[in-house]
Amino acid sequence: MTSDPKFRRLLVKLSGEALMGDRQYGIDPTFLARVASEIRQVMELGCEICLVVGGGNIFRGVSGAAQGLDRVTGDHMGMLATVINALAVKSALLAEGVDARVQSAIPMEAICETFVRARAQRHLDKGRVIVFAAGTGNPYFTTDTAAALRAAEMGCDAMFKATKVDGVYDADPATNPDAQRFETLTYDMVIERELKVMDLTAITLAKDNNFPLIVFNLNDAGAMANAVTGQGTSTLVTR
Ligand code: UDP
Repeated sequence: MTSDPKFRRLLVKLSGEALMGDRQYGIDPTFLARVASEIRQVMELGCEICLVVGGGNIFRGVSGAAQGLDRVTGDHMGMLATVINALAVKSALLAEGVDARVQSAIPMEAICETFVRARAQRHLDKGRVIVFAAGTGNPYFTTDTAAALRAAEMGCDAMFKATKVDGVYDADPATNPDAQRFETLTYDMVIERELKVMDLTAITLAKDNNFPLIVFNLNDAGAMANAVTGQGTSTLVTR
């Protein structure tokens, strides 16, 4: 049962944790292959896909700072971690028959392209997935903010956040059996109720640029195509 996609150009945010599968750290190759298959299914619906990948499965700047590194160095290490993930995602996409390119916010020309908007646009025109790496290229930011930034720059119709739960809840559903899932939310409600959706910089950027955010569970097979066609369970955040 497929229906038409609700959005044409998508920004999909994959956190580092989303690539771990059931592991405690690193990348689960089986789960990575599944993610690539989910992306192929969405491509087959006729969508254009920009991906932003996180790095929390490998390194988190704040935890580095807690271990005695200065914050900026920790954040640089975190951004490099996202490049490792981006290369893995690109390889998995190629193995799935989906053409893809990595563009990094920090130049590293022997490894991947540097982010250039016009070039990214050309890749999309040629049917390639773009995997945006190195976050915003700046310390003190997150890859959630990078996702909102690239969504705005690339003129994406919607931002999709892949998580381990099927939307945004009023309490942690893992520890609170009475937690209620929101079907829809506004960005202002997310801010006022301090809901853990994305960090505030990302939420503000999304609100200001007026594109919707869909939070969905990546663990169910076909979840990404379902989220894009408005099937399955998810939470829709709008202005
Ligand atoms: N990071 C950064 N600037 C950015 C994006 C990321 O400094 O624009 C660093 C930061 O240290 C962060 C790490 O990269 O902790 C990994 O990114 P993030 O925590 O967003 O990854 P995720 O939680 O999505 O796996």
